[in-house]
Amino acid sequence: MNREMTKLPNGSGPKSNFIRAIVAEDNHSGRYGGRVQTRFPPEPNGYLHIGHAKSICLNFGIAAENDGLCNLRFDDTNPEKESQEYVDAIKESIRWLGFDWAGDVHYSSNYFQVLFELAEFLIEAGFAYVCDLNSDEAREYRGSLTTKGTDSPYRTRDVAENLGLFHRMKLGEFPNGACSLRAKIDMSSPNINMRDPVLYRIRHVLHHQTGNKWCIYPTYDYTHCVSDALESVTHSLCTLEFEDHRPLYEWLLDALGNENFLPRTQHSSTDSIYNFPKQIEFAKLKLNYTVVGKRKLKRLVDEGLVSGWDDPRMPTLVGMRRLGYTPSALRNFCESVGVSKNEGVVDIAMLEHAIREDLDASSPRVMCVLDPLRMVITNLGNDDTATLSLARHPKITEFGMRNVPFSNEILIDRADFLEEAIPGFKRLVLGGEVRLRGSYVVRCDEIETDLEGRIQKLKCSADLATLGKKPEGRKVKGVIHWVSADKGVPIEVRLYDRLFNVEYPESKDVEDFTKCLNPNSLRVIKGCIIEPSIFTDSIIGAVQFEREGYFTEDVSESSSSRRIFNRTITLRNSWE
Ligand code: ATP
Ligand code: MG
Repeated sequence: MNREMTKLPNGSGPKSNFIRAIVAEDNHSGRYGGRVQTRFPPEPNGYLHIGHAKSICLNFGIAAENDGLCNLRFDDTNPEKESQEYVDAIKESIRWLGFDWAGDVHYSSNYFQVLFELAEFLIEAGFAYVCDLNSDEAREYRGSLTTKGTDSPYRTRDVAENLGLFHRMKLGEFPNGACSLRAKIDMSSPNINMRDPVLYRIRHVLHHQTGNKWCIYPTYDYTHCVSDALESVTHSLCTLEFEDHRPLYEWLLDALGNENFLPRTQHSSTDSIYNFPKQIEFAKLKLNYTVVGKRKLKRLVDEGLVSGWDDPRMPTLVGMRRLGYTPSALRNFCESVGVSKNEGVVDIAMLEHAIREDLDASSPRVMCVLDPLRMVITNLGNDDTATLSLARHPKITEFGMRNVPFSNEILIDRADFLEEAIPGFKRLVLGGEVRLRGSYVVRCDEIETDLEGRIQKLKCSADLATLGKKPEGRKVKGVIHWVSADKGVPIEVRLYDRLFNVEYPESKDVEDFTKCLNPNSLRVIKGCIIEPSIFTDSIIGAVQFEREGYFTEDVSESSSSRRIFNRTITLRNSWE
């Protein structure tokens, strides 16, 4: 079955936002010669989460809309926390989300040699010096938001001494933290980022890409702007916490670019204008009932509070994929939250709405009974079996039909039967009638209970004139789902719910977010029975269990002898 074909068209075109407007203006003015080049720069220190999805959709989206390119660049300047496992997982998640990067994967570490040589230039030009203050001293000299900083006593070293020390740093002659290379900017700047920021620090540690080649590593601020320039990035989109770093980004590019150390004008239509990459900040995506942030997610994994990065309750791309969220739903969600400079918390109901909308259009229907109760239809014999033909989708005929075996013994959900009617209950009661979805109207004549009084079996009679027809002379309102008792297939179902039971687990009032986990975020139900069409028709991806929700087989844990389905999402928002 071709599922793409049945996707409802996503009618609305891209909404305007301030970044799209800036890019359009730059195209118009020819600032970058009409080129648009972005990059997605994850640090390989964890798995991607829903916030990254926003950044991916934005960066790859802006590039694609403008016939531009988007690079994937691993921002790997903190080797202690990074690993190849994360590199591989990040690449896979980006592809899964439906994007592909331009050319080869880039790594900031590809530029370590260039960055080193550019740092030598900065030293020679008097823009950088080696400083021996230890981290406590450096903090003291830096000043605060309300007090100016103080010049380091090492600030006046001459070029030759600085170069010599910087080379010795590289050769591994000093222990971690003994000294650092700093930009010489302004210790009295109101912006703390401009108070002689560190460009290089000593770290005797193996790097996942460069091995033991380096024992000094460039800082994020130094690396990022240079990497952007080397890759001819035009628009460098990042989140708001870097707003105060923008002057440094520009200072460094100016310092290096003025001497034509960096490619500056190769794409410009006007040589005189400043056309280095432009850093533009936007607000991070935050969701209620959720933590985003790799550090916190890593804690959940490391402390065993979830089963791993791909636990279906995690807001990671691998977790949401296992839960059954689709790339198209996530892309629609990212588009619908928009891009702005306002730090707001998005209601998770918006994400769930995007998932439901997508799955409603793309999921075949099946019947599955989560809590089976046996029903015997007494006016049918053992040989009265039939194969009913039911639509796979109620609205989209391209899905076709499915075969559903019917017989005189079927299973219904325990919750769909009550001995005595209560107001509002429209399903089956003793002495009452109900429609079996796609089959007959049945009346419950008798119940059988075990010694404890628990109902074991319903004895019902079918109105044989009601297959595909309304019953004569009366109305039967309720419709319930069912599965053939001998042809149904047992499965295990995992009902997931929100991981946190407080709305803002990241708020300052919450002392420890790991203490607000929802104890009912996972319920495992064994012995559910599903109609066989799901396996005979080799259906993959999410399906709707009629009246229960959308479910997706857990391919990482399911086996042919133990089939496991994750509830991707309920049919309606039932959280409240
Ligand atoms: P985290 O706090 O989860 O570690 P990060 O910003 O440190 O996030 P990076 O790997 O550095 O993670 O992020 C790669 C890109 O994704 C960056 O451009 C970053 O700004 C962006 N990004 C990260 N989190 C979000 C978010 N919640 N919303 C939007 N963009 C995000
Ligand atoms: Mg980070």
